[in-house]
Amino acid sequence: LPDPPCGLLTADSARSLVDSVDAFLFDCDGVIWKGDKLIEGVSQTMELLRKLGKKLVFVTNNSRKSRRQYSKKFRSLGLEVTEDEIFTSSFAAAMFLKLNNFPPEKKVYVVGEDGILEELKLAGFECFGGPEDGKKNIKLEADFYFEHDKSVGAVVVGLDQYFNYYKMQYARICISENPGCLFIATNRDPSGHMTSGQEWPGAGTMVAAVSCSVQKEPIVVGKPSSFLMDFLLKSFNLETSRMCMVGDRLDTDILFGHNTGCKTLLVLSGCTALPELLDASNKIHPDLYTTSVYDLVGLLQN
Ligand code: PLP
Ligand code: CA
Repeated sequence: LPDPPCGLLTADSARSLVDSVDAFLFDCDGVIWKGDKLIEGVSQTMELLRKLGKKLVFVTNNSRKSRRQYSKKFRSLGLEVTEDEIFTSSFAAAMFLKLNNFPPEKKVYVVGEDGILEELKLAGFECFGGPEDGKKNIKLEADFYFEHDKSVGAVVVGLDQYFNYYKMQYARICISENPGCLFIATNRDPSGHMTSGQEWPGAGTMVAAVSCSVQKEPIVVGKPSSFLMDFLLKSFNLETSRMCMVGDRLDTDILFGHNTGCKTLLVLSGCTALPELLDASNKIHPDLYTTSVYDLVGLLQN
């Protein structure tokens, strides 16, 4: 492999990386799994890192599931991961509202799926929209007037396979007409592995549609925003300088690592291929890169 402006993971650099960190933050899609398929060697890698006393945390931008639903997914893939080790962009949206003292009498309109609704409800917020509104149609007749709930104080936009014109209008009208209404995006990934073999439009697509209609930028709570890190640090006794973010995307995972002061390891098992990493136009450089997390096992045991 050629020499990019970051180092290839070697036996020496793997050893010094492991010695210099207390925790590994793993991105999920492209690192742990691809869609619903486990990536080879993940379970052996997790076992080794746990044996070495490392804390493992999982951070996903995919908002379609809640932490509870993700712990089920981990278990179904044969990985023992508890809910409190999982940080999703759906959870981040709920925690953002909580941390910002979102008034309990206000409602949240959701352009997204069940994971966001579940996390908002668990945090005690009243919310609506979601898959249910995917069934709603509007008739664009000349005298039609679109009614909306004036008590909506925040709109959360995430990946939504039921996205439609009704939801776009609901989100647009709340953000532009309800005074002080927050516009929150779970994440802006342009695409994601909705299925194992293919990428599909990601939450960034829905966010861009709503953002264009209101001519406003959202508050992003998932990677690369450092918002999630505050929760992580409250939950565990960790220091970011002694953490390593492992991910497959430069503009979310590696940037998240840079934004929060973590060490960074890019794996080529997901959406970034070597030519993109090496391209002169790429300005986001991980500290280290390697083929997949499984390399840690081979390099550390030799
Ligand atoms: N959002 C959606 C809808 C996805 O399908 C994916 C990947 O499958 C992602 C986000 C990115 O997830 P992660 O942060 O785990 O790579
Ligand atoms: Ca990823």
